[in-house]
Amino acid sequence: MKIAVLPGDGIGTEIIAEAVRVLQALELPLELESAPVGGAAYEAHGHPLPEATLALAKAADAVLFGAVGDWKYDKLPRELRPEQAILGLRKQLGLFANFRPAICYEQLTHASSLKPELVAGLDILIIRELTGDIYFGQPRGRRVATDGNFPGAEEAYDTMRYSRPEIERIAHVAFQAARRRSKKVTSVDKSNVLETFQFWKDTVIEVHAQYPDVTLEHMYVDNAAMQLVKAPKAFDVVVTGNMFGDILSDEAAMLTGSIGMLPSASLDQHNKGLYEPSHGSAPDIAGKGVANPLATILSAAMMLRYSLNQAAQAERIESAVQAVLSAGLRTGDIWSEGTRRVGTREMGDAVVAALGGKGVTGLTRS
Ligand code: NAD
Repeated sequence: MKIAVLPGDGIGTEIIAEAVRVLQALELPLELESAPVGGAAYEAHGHPLPEATLALAKAADAVLFGAVGDWKYDKLPRELRPEQAILGLRKQLGLFANFRPAICYEQLTHASSLKPELVAGLDILIIRELTGDIYFGQPRGRRVATDGNFPGAEEAYDTMRYSRPEIERIAHVAFQAARRRSKKVTSVDKSNVLETFQFWKDTVIEVHAQYPDVTLEHMYVDNAAMQLVKAPKAFDVVVTGNMFGDILSDEAAMLTGSIGMLPSASLDQHNKGLYEPSHGSAPDIAGKGVANPLATILSAAMMLRYSLNQAAQAERIESAVQAVLSAGLRTGDIWSEGTRRVGTREMGDAVVAALGGKGVTGLTRS
């Protein structure tokens, strides 16, 4: 099993190092090969997604990705900015389904900004369409307006669009995922205003006919944003478009206490995938050794489950993470009174120790 390891920028290198150590501790026949991506690749090769990195990602069974980006690249032309690497990988690898589980671990209930009773036991799955919508729709650009509110003024425009096959395939993914959970899908749209999302809703309803055992409900995105903080446990699987999913999944992240805890998977038709934490490169804390590596470690667990058919090994990692949290270890983002603050490396060490069945020793609470 070959894994392309793409650390990227900022905290990417620090958190990927810990996920790699956890994978190595499993003693599986994994071949890990690393390549630069994002700003690091721009510095080394003049492009955020060099040909060699793309070739490695295509040849591998799965991709483990850190994070890309730094404010210092903000002045570069858009096509050379680090974030283009992730968009390019999604497109080139045909990764159209983004899975973002938002699970509130019992030990972290108090780290959430919501009342504990609202998030205790939370386990929802946000499925975001990744390759369409306004993020990729053409045409886009800047021009002088010939109509609208200010004819003759400079304006910018993007295009929101979805084709029937794009909506059908993400709807199938959502209904099939719901079958493995509590059999409920909430499709989030803005069909009251946008033609694209009326089409989305109509198409999801058509696909639903093939899944009579799954309950389907529809919700406008503004209401969904509100319900996610009002009664998040009422959701199970949420399926939505690229832009709404981008925003709602970050909102869901905070329900769980920290974005540093949230893994994600982006899958193609054949379950080949790219696995990455839901957060970015966090330039504000990069190089300080304080980033939470658990989202990346849990992303590696998702990789074992979805792309490498190693569900038991995925569970080993997830149990090890639980053990470490139960022992009271916390990086700064999830720290609270009565727990022990640790750095990135120490958190990785603890997960590796827990995997070895050694228990998490010497980790006294302070
Ligand atoms: P961010 O997710 O990097 O950081 C947001 C906040 O969360 C920061 O305060 C950061 O310190 C904190 N944080 C994030 N991950 C953490 C972790 N593991 N442990 C502890 N704290 C953590 O988002 P941002 O600041 O908006 O963006 C920073 C850069 O990352 C930008 O260049 C952006 O474009 C890029 N970005 C990349 C990806 C990606 O690679 N997939 C995703 C989002 C943002």
